[in-house]
Amino acid sequence: MKIKLTNNKKAKPDFSKLGFGKYFTDHMLVIDYKDGKWQEPEIVPFGDLSLSPASVVFHYGQEIFEGCKAYKSEDGKVTMFRAADNIKRMNNSAKRLCMAELPVEETVKAIEKLVLTDIDWIPTAPGTSLYVRPTLIGTEAFLGVHPSAQFKFFVILSPVGSYYANGLAPIKINVEDKYLRAGKGGTGEAKCGGNYAASLYAAENAKHQGFEQVLYLDSVERKFVEEVGAMNMFFVIDGTVVTPELDGAILPGITRDSVIKVLKEFKMPVEERAVSIDEIVAAYKAGKLNEAFGTGTAAVISPVGVIKYGDTVMEIGGGKIGEKSLWLYDRITGVQNRKYPDPFKWVKTLN
Ligand SMILES: *Cc1c(COP(=O)(O)O)cnc(C)c1O
Repeated sequence: MKIKLTNNKKAKPDFSKLGFGKYFTDHMLVIDYKDGKWQEPEIVPFGDLSLSPASVVFHYGQEIFEGCKAYKSEDGKVTMFRAADNIKRMNNSAKRLCMAELPVEETVKAIEKLVLTDIDWIPTAPGTSLYVRPTLIGTEAFLGVHPSAQFKFFVILSPVGSYYANGLAPIKINVEDKYLRAGKGGTGEAKCGGNYAASLYAAENAKHQGFEQVLYLDSVERKFVEEVGAMNMFFVIDGTVVTPELDGAILPGITRDSVIKVLKEFKMPVEERAVSIDEIVAAYKAGKLNEAFGTGTAAVISPVGVIKYGDTVMEIGGGKIGEKSLWLYDRITGVQNRKYPDPFKWVKTLN
């Protein structure tokens, strides 16, 4: 691995006011793919990329990304949570978009090296972490539609606080019955930028009406709940945790998987199955919709306080985070911060 350190270190932001994704560290990792193989990984000063304007990524959207986190405790120990699973998922996305797959072990090692290079940028306060953003783009310069033969993989780091400005305060979501994010057979289960581009319009519409997120329904019948576009969706119905099954249109979230595994570990009822929006409305009307929450690396658990579907406004949990949501938040962040045991070996100590 080549390492070129900056001699121009940036001033650190106020770690008590990080927000999400606003600041970037001093270095980044870059690995190029050409002549049919991955080149030597390089850690270089964080900075602009130089790409041909004819690069495939700009015209046909050959782009995928990932997101995971590193943590630092007061004693200076640095850990990462399920990073290898992120690179494995990136390879699934790469397959779907005809991109080169990464060697998992070497890539994770290179990312760990990057994280340790910028160790001073990892905040230690509760709720803070270093967000790690791997990205893969098609860089070959030509204007014809076929898969790029050259790729650039890069990883940037951002010290972060909570994803939502109000932390664990419940969010409001609007059920979208017109626009779609993804359909079965499409790219919904790949973590590609194109899915996000397609979701911006509905998200902006919802924002203008006071909603933080959009809940998408299935593309065929507009009947079954899929996900929130950046988070997987969970409901607690009459004491049972229920989440839509992975149907090809839903992104297989690593936090989603962690929630399911932790619930099973503690023998709590959890179901992965088709969930119709009518079932949610009926449960609400019967007083059995106990909780709703989204899951994702950025927010971990994001309680949902209001779901609007057509004229039906469902108010859940009286503006407070639910009991199971809070328990799961504590449990998963507790494993991440080494407060609880780690039976699934999700946490890796880097130093
Ligand atoms: C990344 C992402 C999620 C959450 O996945 P995690 O691995 O839990 O962070 C959910 N939905 C979409 C569309 C995503 O891109």
